[in-house]
Amino acid sequence: KKKMKKSIIILFNLFISCNIFSQNTSQTNIILMIGDGMGLTHISAGMYSLNNNTALESFPFVGLVKTHSHNALVTDSAASGTAFACGEKTLNGTIGINPQNKKIKSILKHSKEKGYKTGIIATSTIVHATPASFYANVLSRNQYEDIALQLSQSDVDFFIGGGRDYFTRRKDKRNLIEEMSSHEFVYSLKKFTESKSNKIGFLTSLGDPVPINQGRKPKLSNAVEEVLSKLSSNQEPFFLVVEGSQIDWGGHKNDINYVISEFKDFDEAIKSAINFSSKNKNTLVIVTSDHETGGLAITGGKIKRFQIKTKFNTIGHSATMVPIFSYGPNSELFSGVYDNTEIFDKMLSTINN
Ligand code: MG
Ligand code: ZN
Repeated sequence: KKKMKKSIIILFNLFISCNIFSQNTSQTNIILMIGDGMGLTHISAGMYSLNNNTALESFPFVGLVKTHSHNALVTDSAASGTAFACGEKTLNGTIGINPQNKKIKSILKHSKEKGYKTGIIATSTIVHATPASFYANVLSRNQYEDIALQLSQSDVDFFIGGGRDYFTRRKDKRNLIEEMSSHEFVYSLKKFTESKSNKIGFLTSLGDPVPINQGRKPKLSNAVEEVLSKLSSNQEPFFLVVEGSQIDWGGHKNDINYVISEFKDFDEAIKSAINFSSKNKNTLVIVTSDHETGGLAITGGKIKRFQIKTKFNTIGHSATMVPIFSYGPNSELFSGVYDNTEIFDKMLSTINN
């Protein structure tokens, strides 16, 4: 009988310690997904081309975001990236510095201070304006080598994107890959998966990664799945940024097939994120864009097989609002019509509670 009492006490203690354990993990993970240049028409064009389906249909909350920058109605990716990454509107071309010339702290850095693990995945170079907005503070988005140096000093746990040359073929002759001894560097997604390191960099190309329809590897969905499996392998919550970077580049080229193929790659990655969040309920998934590119319109087509006819109005960006979709805890915060800076505020309130 005494033995039984003892084992009941042990069981009870185990139960209590398990509860404390789960409290630690009740912090909300955030997966923020950005389709660069992805306006509502890009989504519509992609959706029709995917036989009238998109992963975005599973999101319960939708909103609209005002994208203008501090000094321009039509923003660029640096100012808009800074707005949702750091919470302030700034000048076009500037990353992580406000119009008063003050460095501002990104949501990724805030999350790190809260004990979050962090990850960044982009289908452009990792030093391009959108990903850079989460770890760099530079007056010009073109300071790629400075941005690479700031990434090497930022302690982002996992990152996947192009631009190895900015780390190893530099004017200052430094080799940032060697300097980042905290990280293991790998050169394939297979090696990334096999690595036992808790900090990994995967620089996928020397310069800009090629478009997905020219064979870019890895697929964004596969990269997302592997990074999510690393980020969720311990008890800490995580903040992950995923960018479908080249939807914008298709828009600049006024090339609808480029836009659609990049949207498809991004849509599959959204599916992977939703799949993860449906199994890990403490995960908020947000999908949005930094601005629209190309002034795209669907002007005709055929209902049979959802064939579309499209027209671009500019080779630049436009000032139209962009949609935002949310899924998981706190997703209701993201419905409505608001400024891109509020995306930062809503994410900050999520990691603070
Ligand atoms: Mg971008
Ligand atoms: Zn652009």
